[in-house]
Amino acid sequence: MATLSNLGFPRIGAKRELKHALEAFWRGDSTSRQLLDSSAQLRRRHWQLQRDAGADVVPCNDFSLYDQVLDTAFLFDAIPERYRALADTDPLAGYFALARGTQGGGHDLHALEMTKWFDTNYHYLVPELKKGQTFRLRGDKPVAEFLEAKALGFNARPVLLGPVSFLLLSKTVDSSDRLALLGQLLPAYIRLLRQLDAAGAEWVQIDEPCLVLDQGADDHAAYLKAYTALADVDGPKLMLTTYFGELGANLALVNKLPVAGVHVDLVRAPGQLDAVLDSLPVSRVLSLGLVDGRNVWRADLDHALALARRAKERTGDARLHIAPSCSLLHVPLDASVETALPGDLHGWLAFAREKIGELRTLADALADQPSAHTALKQARESLANRRRSDKVHRPEVAARIASLDAGASRRSSSHDERRRLQQAKLGLPLYPTTTIGSFPQTHEVRDARARNRSGKFSDADYDAFIAAETEKCVRFQEEIGIDVLVHGEFERNDMVEYFGEQLDGFAFTKLGWVQSYGSRCVKPPIIFGDVHRPRAMTVKWSSYAQSLTSRPMKGMLTGPVTVLQWSFVRDDQPRAATCRQIALALRDEVLDLESAGIGVIQIDEPALREGLPLRRADWQGYLDWAVECFRITASSVADRTQIHTHMCYSEFNDIIDAVAAMDADVISIETSRSRMELLDAFVKFRYPNEIGPGVYDIHSPRIPDTEEMISLLEKAGAVLKSEQLWVNPDCGLKTRGWPETRSALMAMVKAARAMRQAIAA
Ligand code: GLN
Ligand code: ZN
Repeated sequence: MATLSNLGFPRIGAKRELKHALEAFWRGDSTSRQLLDSSAQLRRRHWQLQRDAGADVVPCNDFSLYDQVLDTAFLFDAIPERYRALADTDPLAGYFALARGTQGGGHDLHALEMTKWFDTNYHYLVPELKKGQTFRLRGDKPVAEFLEAKALGFNARPVLLGPVSFLLLSKTVDSSDRLALLGQLLPAYIRLLRQLDAAGAEWVQIDEPCLVLDQGADDHAAYLKAYTALADVDGPKLMLTTYFGELGANLALVNKLPVAGVHVDLVRAPGQLDAVLDSLPVSRVLSLGLVDGRNVWRADLDHALALARRAKERTGDARLHIAPSCSLLHVPLDASVETALPGDLHGWLAFAREKIGELRTLADALADQPSAHTALKQARESLANRRRSDKVHRPEVAARIASLDAGASRRSSSHDERRRLQQAKLGLPLYPTTTIGSFPQTHEVRDARARNRSGKFSDADYDAFIAAETEKCVRFQEEIGIDVLVHGEFERNDMVEYFGEQLDGFAFTKLGWVQSYGSRCVKPPIIFGDVHRPRAMTVKWSSYAQSLTSRPMKGMLTGPVTVLQWSFVRDDQPRAATCRQIALALRDEVLDLESAGIGVIQIDEPALREGLPLRRADWQGYLDWAVECFRITASSVADRTQIHTHMCYSEFNDIIDAVAAMDADVISIETSRSRMELLDAFVKFRYPNEIGPGVYDIHSPRIPDTEEMISLLEKAGAVLKSEQLWVNPDCGLKTRGWPETRSALMAMVKAARAMRQAIAA
């Protein structure tokens, strides 16, 4: 029978036990012994759970106290100098210092940089390497976890991040070539493989996810060199594991590498199966990624079975593994506890545990086991039920989408014309000041919301509380002289959840946690059906805030691409189609705000860039629909209504055409940390509309002074016209406290005034 081998499992625990254990340890409320014991308990529970669900082979060393890339760096001693003393005296403290920085006890270390793991919402720590870097095996985590599983009676396969992807995911601090370090690194991998062999590991899963990216000749040479060296070990068989996309032009290379097995993702890239089978080296084991490790839906098992049968004709049973598309790290753990979901939704879901059950059914069905029949039949019924559900398909939504014409995504006049009318209406000075939306979400604000949710604080009292906070915020902005005000977003828990909760087609789980980084978890909404807005979502608080002041009040919305990007989305229609529905619902909100007298409306798209596909060739297709969706949301208003957008990242040089094509009247972006480096892009590209390059970093409690902000504005003035420039912080202020917010914004207003005076003089 084909072997069911899982590639990775959520580590955090059904009730976020790992988060709680970590945070207790960091606070000093528990010992390292207690932390390590809780971790071992979780590993054991998760192995058991996977075996009970039907896995033949369970992964080990997929567990991490913080992040698997950091684990790899630590394991091979890729520890930058500044952490070394601490790591040598207290490895655990050193490890957490790399992960999150540390202050006190004679140390003041900032953390490694963190960045997104491919196109997921998981963040990994970026190893810092340098020329001449040495590596050695330090500690024995993979071996210890293998032995731990073995002692408990589990058939475990250690998971390692492969040497080439490890280097490609790292950065060098001296801009030397990362791949030049491969020769240094390989002996450490070889040593580790020998140790795993001695411990009795038959297979090792070696992840090379970079093989689904565009890889050049140097990269190819590195893979060849690495795997030729590792093949010499004569140790465990290597399952070279790829996921998140198709091998494409890298397939020929993969076929040349001397490995015993290859795993391919047939959920993201089912089309690659034929090419993979046609060129499969003799005696190579093939692992098929058949259920989606990136989404929450039950699989179409008939479709997956057909793929598996095609493979089996070529490989036979002995050379076939059945697996999820990628590690199950990216989905919640257990759907069976989500009994409070609307309609039939519960029956349509498969989280990590259920996905292993689906793979069991597939493996059994592939071996013609009668036991698989009932499960296959149930899967078929659930899929049919979902396909015809009137909770999913709402003809009126489809009809509205169909009736959209090209005009729906175009403002009626050019920006110049709009600017004239907006100027006449708003009467703003040069260098107008504004903020990005949220003001400090203090403990009292969060506490009031929590008490309201649990029924301890009546709706009327909660509303009165929010109204009072909003009024304080408006008065404060008036007092210090901000030009375009915001209401402060005190009523919002989260910028996506707040909207999802008010839209049809969205559902929220109780325990559907997914790790974002370290101990931080998110509970993404599930978009299961056609999106429809039953009633206005933000008009109440925006118009209340506007009623308090004669200055312009900015309405605040989360944009369609960001809502999409931060949710689990339907897999029964293209992402673009779901995005268009969200865009239409938000368009209705924009119009309602405008009718309520809100003349400035901001549509935040902080996630636009992270939606970029992994391969360059797919970028334009994505950007086309993403920009179109933004424009559907934004374009229905009159010329005199001013549309803003906000993005919080500075690397947008390569998507600047798309950003300009969004045609927002004003865009605010993060730039303060890179000291306006981003503005380099504007030397070549003449950004046509108005722009507020963030003049101070809100991610830090540091209070910038006026001079600093003036110098940033002057830098911006060198490549942008003064009539184009706005003055604002680089993101929302919700994580800040009031004292620093007050001082920083006062300094910001002063900077804008100084700029105006300089021009008048
Ligand atoms: N309007 C949001 C806020 O100020 C924007 C948040 C974001 O960019 N992530 O909080
Ligand atoms: Zn932001």
